[in-house]
Amino acid sequence: MSETRTIVMLPGDGIGPEIVAATRQVLELLGSFEFIDHLIGGASIDQHGRALTDEVVETCRSADAVLLGAVGGPSWDAAVARDPGAPRPEQGLLGIRRELGLYANLRPVRPAAALIESSPLKPERIEGTDLLVVRELTGGIYFGDSGRSGETAHDDCSYSVPEIERIARVAFEAALQRAESRGSSPRVTSVDKANVLETSRLWRETVKRVAGEFPEVELDHMLVDNTAMQLVSRPTDFDVIVTENLFGDILSDEAAMLTGSLGMLPSASIGDDGTPGLFEPVHGSAPDIAGQGSANPLATMLSAAMLLRYGLGDGEAADRLERAVDAVLGSGLRTPDLATGAEDETPAGTEEVTAAVLAELAR
Ligand code: NAD
Repeated sequence: MSETRTIVMLPGDGIGPEIVAATRQVLELLGSFEFIDHLIGGASIDQHGRALTDEVVETCRSADAVLLGAVGGPSWDAAVARDPGAPRPEQGLLGIRRELGLYANLRPVRPAAALIESSPLKPERIEGTDLLVVRELTGGIYFGDSGRSGETAHDDCSYSVPEIERIARVAFEAALQRAESRGSSPRVTSVDKANVLETSRLWRETVKRVAGEFPEVELDHMLVDNTAMQLVSRPTDFDVIVTENLFGDILSDEAAMLTGSLGMLPSASIGDDGTPGLFEPVHGSAPDIAGQGSANPLATMLSAAMLLRYGLGDGEAADRLERAVDAVLGSGLRTPDLATGAEDETPAGTEEVTAAVLAELAR
């Protein structure tokens, strides 16, 4: 990548600044970037009285991609407990997703070979798992009309054809990109509850039609209850899973547990072409270990790999970074959150792990 790309860095709170600083060093080795730092979450509340300012939104809109650490912490929780109207750090996160129109959430699940023992599932069951959950993020039951009347409550679920088409395209394109870098055949599993729900029947029809634009990609349909079972019984059979907001919320957490390591999970939220994507680790701001130099930076580095692949279209740099992370874990070096008690383990801090990833990349 020769052209200079702009990345907005939003470290946030707690360990956010430590893991984002570590990841910046790694990105510097992988391309030519201009980094713009801004506050979000609690840090922004302390400085500006709001979790997200218009200036940050504008800067993000004109950037190529956004990398976020994590937001939140006990001091802001306490302020909200005293005054429920006080600003909340997570308003920054929800606000930036909304302002950028990010409707697709991507969560890859690829347990590192060296950490296979950390999974709650048997190693032979998860070995070789490499799947991506594509979740619709701005529609469905979470955004429908809701209310109460006497002893009855309702939450409406609706989806439109354009909403389904755009998320389906994200899934098919992601399957093609993954297949190219893995040399495998692209496959999409569309998950719904078409035997019961009308929105699911529209979902299925629409995904089928969009599949016509991607003849190279194999498509199958699975009911959500069956998918929940298959994810733990044969996770290696999945490639890309695409599903609506509610099902995706549940299935992506279930799939995440296959790795057993919160400090390892990256995510991406993306919108229309030309809109910068937002890339962030799945974990929170870990205030209990902030400032101790022991935070695991790997989920943020893997989020940077997603930024390279899906945000900037540089799959090669993304593959290099993922391989470097695998190699470091393979060497036995790990932060305390990943400790398995194995004999060949070397406990390390954020700096040491970062230096090891940099050394791998420089090889
Ligand atoms: P958390 O993910 O911050 O921490 C849970 C546990 O995992 C803690 O013991 C923590 O030390 C550990 N942990 C998490 N990430 C780690 C890492 N990279 N390296 C080493 N250990 C790590 O969840 P929580 O404790 O429930 O929440 C803490 C704060 O984070 C809260 O204010 C919460 O609202 C916020 N939060 C933010 C996000 C986000 O910004 N996306 C997500 C979840 C929680």
